[in-house]
Amino acid sequence: MDAKLSSLLAEIKIPKIGPKTLEALHARSIFTVIDLLLCFPLHYKNKLKLSMIEDLQADQDAYIEGVIVQINKPGKIFKALLQDSDRRRLDLVFFQQNQWIMDKLRVGTRVRVYGKITFNDYGPQMAHPEIEYIGWGQLFIPKFEPVYPTIQGASQRSLSLAVDYLLNAKDRFFGSQYTTFYRCLQVLHGWRLTPDELNGYLSLQQKASEELAFIEGLAYFIKLHDKERLMQREAVLLAPGQLTQQLMNALPYQLTAGQAAIWKEIQVDFTQGYATHRLVQGDVGSGKTILGFLSLTVAVDAGYQAVMMAPTEILAQQHYESLHTLLGSAVKVGLLTGSLTIAQRRLLLMEVESGAIDILIGTQALFQESVTFKDLVLAVIDEQQRFGVAQRAKLLSKGKQAVHHLTLTATPIPRTLAMAMFGHLSISTLREKPPGRTPIDTYTLSRSKMDIALNSVSNCVKKKMQCYWICPLIEQSEVIEAQAVEQSYQFLKEKLPHIRMEPLHGRMPSLKRTEILNKFYDGSIDMIVSTLVIEVGINNPNATLMVIESPDRLGLAQLHQLRGRVGRGHQKSYCLLIYGDSLTETGIQRLQSLCEYDDGFQLAEIDLELRGPGQLLGAKQSGFTSFKFFDLQKHQYLIEPILKKIPHITSEEMNLIEILFTETNDQIYLEN
Ligand code: ADP
Ligand code: MG
Repeated sequence: MDAKLSSLLAEIKIPKIGPKTLEALHARSIFTVIDLLLCFPLHYKNKLKLSMIEDLQADQDAYIEGVIVQINKPGKIFKALLQDSDRRRLDLVFFQQNQWIMDKLRVGTRVRVYGKITFNDYGPQMAHPEIEYIGWGQLFIPKFEPVYPTIQGASQRSLSLAVDYLLNAKDRFFGSQYTTFYRCLQVLHGWRLTPDELNGYLSLQQKASEELAFIEGLAYFIKLHDKERLMQREAVLLAPGQLTQQLMNALPYQLTAGQAAIWKEIQVDFTQGYATHRLVQGDVGSGKTILGFLSLTVAVDAGYQAVMMAPTEILAQQHYESLHTLLGSAVKVGLLTGSLTIAQRRLLLMEVESGAIDILIGTQALFQESVTFKDLVLAVIDEQQRFGVAQRAKLLSKGKQAVHHLTLTATPIPRTLAMAMFGHLSISTLREKPPGRTPIDTYTLSRSKMDIALNSVSNCVKKKMQCYWICPLIEQSEVIEAQAVEQSYQFLKEKLPHIRMEPLHGRMPSLKRTEILNKFYDGSIDMIVSTLVIEVGINNPNATLMVIESPDRLGLAQLHQLRGRVGRGHQKSYCLLIYGDSLTETGIQRLQSLCEYDDGFQLAEIDLELRGPGQLLGAKQSGFTSFKFFDLQKHQYLIEPILKKIPHITSEEMNLIEILFTETNDQIYLEN
């Protein structure tokens, strides 16, 4: 680490920067030379060229020279009329009378003014301009002034002076190192640039920001790779045995070629001698679950325990039952969810700890500290993008030795994003779907045409098929969600009295939910009116219509996943997206792409483009929120070059990274 750039400002004694200013900087966590140099201007005052009043445009800053030709003081307002050499006029307006300005600004005074232009009925005006008083013959000094973020107690002038001092002392702080970086700083502070450079400033600025983004991206990926190395921990070898074979035999179908290929990859992983980290991504309904199941049985065959985590109770229950149906009593499977009684829970945890349970299925409840295993060697995480990386790590830490880890995800993550987030994971992609799926026709529908949706439900039920009616809410409040569901349910009940329907939401006891789902599976109800609780895992091939209210509240990948609840049987399936009046242009565009594309990967890419990665993954989980310069969306194209750069990184670059990003990176990992 270079001591000079990380020197404390308090110790290097910058001329004209007193203890008050230092204190103000400290309050904003600006302590060192580099802290201050990374405090970039928000924008710049461009006083390089004078404008003529005739050329002024609204909402732009302008720098104008002229003579005051008239003064008005109606009420509290003070107005001065400025005339330029073309005899065009500009109103200067001060909404508070300021004695100092009034004294100096008189008819005949020659001034330069700088400020934002607006237009009213009488022409252009500038409110509260900055004023420079000039005498005849005075030299015109072009200026490009940085405007720094407001820091209480540190004036713009002192910030400029301090930056000027630091950049000026290049030898002292940079030595002969970091030439490119120094140049970035110079550009971004707009410091001593030549007129030519200032002319092409925008492209210079862009290049400098890109350079910093590159270094920051480099810092992030180096950390990620370090972590990857850490994660290459020795782990037990696992190979399929009798139980796995039994499961394979019990399947009512053959693995598709895609499934078989990934299954092979997983088996190879298990014999490498170090812990597997594999992400299996595949569109909704592509058949990922069985890959998880097979892996679980391999662990049991080898004499160890395995765990599988699902995002919802319904899904956990479903996995539990499927395993039971497929394997009977050949294996001891436990189900841990939030709805066990204390006694049930205690018993189950004891069995897990003693090793009496081979496979534990559960929800978030699995993270809890009280859950300890006798010999956990494999964790399968279903639909993982809903879990944070920290949660995943918590589960993996429950092994006494390194735990193999397999994640199944239905929200496909665009390649660059996957690389960025999961650098240490191997990725398998399941492209084809099991045979016998029918494409889903998707339509958008304005709320004013609700009747069409109601008719569709009637028609669907007439043909002895079933429907989902979804009312998603963005609020994370189950209470409000439940209310919304009840409201839609009442409305639908009234409009469609002949349809047998039930509401379903997260506020219901899980027993009640299971009961409703069972009624839906066995056909004794026609429609479920639900929140997103049905988003994953529900599988009823007889359901052929999906109506989604307020679809604009959800990500495309999520809508696609939701829609994947239908189209599971041999009948043609439909999805209706009912949008309200407030839908934006982008919103409409998004929904239309859903009608056009049936490929979750493509949709995820589109979503990334339209909404940005934060929205796609949840800003918190993405870990990208703490980046200063690197913007995943804007700088996606930098990821590959960054990865290529890593093996060739120089020690100077490494030093710079340490100076710049050590803290930020730690933060990223804490968040993760
Ligand atoms: P997802 O990838 O969305 O988790 P699932 O694993 O739930 O998908 O599989 C969806 C449905 O497809 C299930 O009913 C499952 O039994 C069935 N399925 C999975 N693999 C095959 C296959 N190879 N052939 C036929 N059906 C399959
Ligand atoms: Mg699944």
